[in-house]
Order: sequence, then C-alpha cells, then structure tokens
Amino acid sequence: MATLAELAAQAADCTKCALHSTRTQVVFGVGDPHAPLMFVGEAPGKDEDEQGEPFVGRSGKLLDQVLFDEFGVKRDRVYIANVIKSRPPGNRDPLPDEIAACRPWLEAQLDAIAPKVVITLGNFATKLLLLGDTKAKDGITKLRGKAYPWRNGAVLVPTFHPSAVLRNGGGQPLAQMRADFIRAKVALADAGIVL
Ligand code: URA
Repeated sequence: MATLAELAAQAADCTKCALHSTRTQVVFGVGDPHAPLMFVGEAPGKDEDEQGEPFVGRSGKLLDQVLFDEFGVKRDRVYIANVIKSRPPGNRDPLPDEIAACRPWLEAQLDAIAPKVVITLGNFATKLLLLGDTKAKDGITKLRGKAYPWRNGAVLVPTFHPSAVLRNGGGQPLAQMRADFIRAKVALADAGIVL
C-alpha cells in the first residue's frame, strides 16, 4: 500500500477531472498520517487553493477552535481532508463526476490512515461516506446526532459543515457540532484512545 506521502505526490499532478485546469494546486490533506481521528470536509475554497492546506479560511478557524475546545489538541494530531482535492470555481458545489474522479484519492487516504473515528463535515462527506451516494435524500440535519458503526470496526460521526455553522452565527448548530465532537471523543475512548 502506498504511504500518504507517496499518495500526496501522485495526486499533486492529477488531471482526472476538469478542475485541474482552474485550481492553483491540489489540496490533498494535512495532519498526522496515523491519526486515530480524521475529518472529511467538502472541497477547498479560495484560501485553501492558495495555501495548499484544507480548512485554513474562516471555517477552518472554527474547526480548529472546536477541536481545541473539545479535544484539547491542535490540528497536527488529527488528519484533515476533503471529498474533492481541487477548488471548484466560485466555490460551487462539487459535481458528481468530480466526486467520482476524486474518490479513489479519499479512499486511499482512508486506507493509509485507517482512522478509528471519522467526522464527516456537512452533506457531501456524510452522504458519500455513510450512504455511498452524494445524491441521497437524507441530509446532515437528519443524519447527525449519532455515531455510526462503519468500515473495519471504525465509527463515523456526521456533523454540520463549519461554514453552515458560521452562516447561522453559531447558536444551536454550534452546540450540536460540539455535541457531535463529544460523540467522536466517546467513540475514541471506547477504542482505548485519548487524543
Ligand atoms: N470547506 C471545506 O469543505 N473544505 C475546506 O478545506 C475549506 C472549506
């Protein structure tokens, strides 16, 4: 199996979807290659496309804050990736063919890291990894609030995308996001892991 560093090097010049012609760079992922906790977001935005790292803009600041508040760790102790690795122009939603083209990279990341708990951020990551279909009817509001048994004995915990929490000005969605992080913390503890 390829290491995460090998995968990142291979992905850097990926041309499997049209986004390669508009992106600044591939935003593969960041963090501990053996992290027991992995986050999966949607797609790089402008800041991520410029800096080459997931969640470095406003939503990333919120993710970092809630991670620190609830787990007491910084992002280098977890792994953070997105469903698609190239920025969609104007931050539009990822298209089905882009998600399909990029999926092998995400699956390879999951195989290499083998996290015990995956937190999916928002509809795209949740529907893809929990239901196998980003067009599924049930969305994040219905799916979040539980820890789901997942592949290879791992646990998947869906929560809101930080940008949705920001759009709401915090409030109840932020409290629910914090509660979901605690669910993930409990699932890790059940596996004997304290971050
Ligand atoms: N939103 C995402 O889903 N991913 C990022 O990396 C940044 C914003």
